[in-house]
Formats: sequence, C-alpha cells, structure tokens
Amino acid sequence: MSTSVTMDKIVSLTKRRGFIYPTSEIYGGLANAYDYGPLGIELLRNIRNLWWKRFIQDRRDMMGIDSQIILHPRTWEASGHVGSFSDAVVEDVKSHKRYRADHLIESWIVGKKEFESMVVENMDVEAMGDFITEHKIKSPEGNNVTAPKKFNLLMETHLGTLEGQKDMVYLRGETAQGIFSNFKNILDTTRIKIPFGVGQIGKSFRNEITLGQYIFRTFEFEQAEIEYFFHPKQQKWEDLMKSWKDAMWSFVTKDLGVSEENVRWRKHTDTERSHYSKDTYDLDYKFPFGWKELWGIAYRTDYDLKQHMEFSGQDLRYTDPHTQEKYIPHVIEPAIGLNRALFMVLSDSYVEEDNRVVLKLAPQLAPYSAAIFPLVANKTEIIAKAEAVFDLLKERFPVYWDDRGNIGKRYRYQDEIGTPYCITVDYDSLTDHTVTIRNRDTMEQERVQIDSLQTYLQDHLFSQRLMSS
Ligand code: ATP
Repeated sequence: MSTSVTMDKIVSLTKRRGFIYPTSEIYGGLANAYDYGPLGIELLRNIRNLWWKRFIQDRRDMMGIDSQIILHPRTWEASGHVGSFSDAVVEDVKSHKRYRADHLIESWIVGKKEFESMVVENMDVEAMGDFITEHKIKSPEGNNVTAPKKFNLLMETHLGTLEGQKDMVYLRGETAQGIFSNFKNILDTTRIKIPFGVGQIGKSFRNEITLGQYIFRTFEFEQAEIEYFFHPKQQKWEDLMKSWKDAMWSFVTKDLGVSEENVRWRKHTDTERSHYSKDTYDLDYKFPFGWKELWGIAYRTDYDLKQHMEFSGQDLRYTDPHTQEKYIPHVIEPAIGLNRALFMVLSDSYVEEDNRVVLKLAPQLAPYSAAIFPLVANKTEIIAKAEAVFDLLKERFPVYWDDRGNIGKRYRYQDEIGTPYCITVDYDSLTDHTVTIRNRDTMEQERVQIDSLQTYLQDHLFSQRLMSS
C-alpha cells in the first residue's frame, strides 16, 4: 500500500472511474449500500473467479455448490444463530442512534496509556456495561447511552402472498449453513471421500450496527466460504489449520498480489471466539483505517452437523468406505468477504507518483489487460487498423477501446483503472504494421509488430504475474 492512500482517495477514485457507486443515488442513496459499476464488477468477478479456481477447480479434494439465500428457518435455530448471533448494542438516549458497545469502548481507549493493553474482545456484555458506566463513556454525539443489550444480526423477511399467512424466514447470515444442509446430498451423489471440502460463493446479510466504513462492512455482502470435512482421529486439526492458513496467505500475497507487510495473522481470544469454534484466526489487512479482519479461519469441530442431525432428525454421519465406521466429521472453515478483498486490493495497489494516480493491480486482476487507442479518430485507415488489433486481442484478453481526446489523457485514465498495457495505432502502423506499447508501471514505450502482439501480452502479463509472487 502506498503511504498516501486514504479512505477518501479510494472512495473518490472508485466513484470517479466507475468501480463503486452509492446505491440508489438518484433517490438520495441508501445508507451503507453500494453498487458495482462497469470497472468494479470486472474486478470483483476476477477476484471471485480466481478464488473459485484456486480453491475449487485446482484441487482434487474440493467441490462447489450454490444453495438458496433463504433456507428453512430451522437451519438458523440449529446453527445457533437465532440464539447467539448477536452484538452488544447501546443506544444514544437523545438521538436514539445505536452503536456497538465494543466499538464505542475501543474508540474511547485510543490514546489512553493505562488502557493500552486492554482487549475489548475479552469483555462480555456485563463487563462492557460496567466499563461504560464507570468511565461515563458517551455516544459520538456526546450524549449518555443505555446499558448494552444483545442485538441479533439475522435479517428477517416474510414468504407468502396473503396478509396474515406469511411465514417469517431469514436471509442467510452466512453461506456455510447451505453447505451443511447439503452434506448428505453431496455424499449420496458424488464419489468424494473424507477428507474433502465444499465451497460456496454468494450473498449474505447481516443487520450490522456499526457501518460507515465504505464496502468494508455492509448489510449485504458476498462471501466465499469453505467447509473442510475430516476425521478427527485420522488427521490432526492443527495440521489442517496450518495448511489452510498457508493456502489463504498464498492467495492473498501471490494471487491477489498484496504486499506481505500489510497482512498479518491474529489469534482469537477465548471470549471473542464464536459459540461453535475451538480455535479461530483472522487474517488481518492494514486497511486505510487500520488493521482489520479480511478472512477468518475457524475449527468448528462437529458442532454444525451434530446440530443439524438433532434438529432435522436425519442421519448425517459419514460411513468410511474401507472400515465401515460411521462418524460425524469435523470441519475447518476458511471464510472471506469478497467485497473486503476488493477493498484490500484497491488500497494495496493505489499509488500516487509523477503527478499521476496509478492502480498497480496484479495483471490477472485488472479489469482490462490492454487498451487500444487509434491515434486520431478521424482517419479511416487508422481506425480500421486499430479495430483489427482490437479483434485480434479480444479473443484472448479483455481489451478496452478508447478514441477520445489526446493520448496523454487516455493514458491517465487507463493508469487510474489499472490497465497494464496501452497500445497506440498511429500513421507508421499503416506501413510498418507495428504499434506502440506502453507499460503502466514503468511508463516505458516500445514498438511491437502487430503479428506478435498476442505473444507479447501473454509473455509480459505472465512474467508480471510471476514477479508479483
Ligand atoms: P467482523 O468481525 O468484521 O464483523 P465476522 O468475524 O463477523 O466479521 P465472519 O462471520 O467470520 O465475519 O465472516 C467471514 C467473512 O465475511 C469476514 O472475514 C469478512 O471478510 C466478511 N464479512 C463479514 N461481515 C461482513 C459485512 N457486514 N460486510 C462485508 N463483509 C463482511
């Protein structure tokens, strides 16, 4: 991450260049909700596809599913979300605005030496209430706040057409439960053997209290989750945890090209850990507003399958094909939010240098691999030649066409959206069949034969990919 990157700069660039828009802007927007524009959707798709390739397609022990957003409501009773998926919330007594108690305490202790070593995550609701009273902590508006209360994060909605006949259901709070509820189907319909994992990418919903951190925390977001099933006596969970942690680290630093110094592991404390987990780590990234969780990994034991067996009355045990032993597998769960991954990639690649803003995206993530510029827009032969270059490259690379304004302006635009190469077709191209290729990072230019453009791009994009690893 460049030292100059701030939240304001990222927000401004992403709006200006069509990565991210506030949702429903023509109606004045909707708090903490964002749409992905023409550039953002390409970047998000590239991150999503790379995750799917690495963790599902490249591995023999993994497969994917796509379950519903609205599952049977008993799912969430079984999983424990109805009972304990909650945050401690306080209310400003005057404005009636709600705040997360832990976040209020965290901001209050900033800069106070005597509380430096305090870990707010270790406090339960009562301890937070006592602390707020003892230190007379106020809301950000300067008013008193109520005692903290638990607030459930699950979003409710209703199914059915007639008033009074509607059934209350939940929008899923995580994608994981759709994996557990399909566990038996997967065993019955595939030839996979333990150990194996199932991955899913999709929207999740949470009634979050603390928002206002752009796309870092929103009501609606996209998760990519894996449940990795194993026999707890045949494999040590510590070893599996280690190999998944290594795979996550490698995805972030190599595939997504993020600088190692901006990523770190953090182990959850006993009080902080979720109700189901025996051990949890967060892979944190240094976002423009500080170190925050990007990706969590938890050892969920056999908690979920056991709960679903109890609540559904179905036998969800696995039968070992060799020994015929029947048992409930344990799971390791790596769970990432793809919108946070996108935010991280933007922050990490944002650079200001030589009077320009550049997104030094890893080439495999860039919305476009190359941009094609006809030098002038009113010369038919140049346009035709540039179109031929576009057609040649579009078969293998995502390419952008721009014939507006001067070349300098076109370069600036492509720098800001992270396009690794710009290709200009000029008068000489008509006779010698060469073009100018300009490198985003070095700004160096060279002449290349149109015939060898595909190979040039393939080699250079590939070598940059290797360099970023
Ligand atoms: P946090 O502590 O930040 O609330 P969490 O520990 O509740 O996150 P998990 O339940 O572990 O999050 O979800 C897995 C991943 O989903 C997180 O690591 C994060 O990347 C993403 N995520 C969770 N909540 C949100 C949200 N409201 N908006 C965007 N991404 C989210």
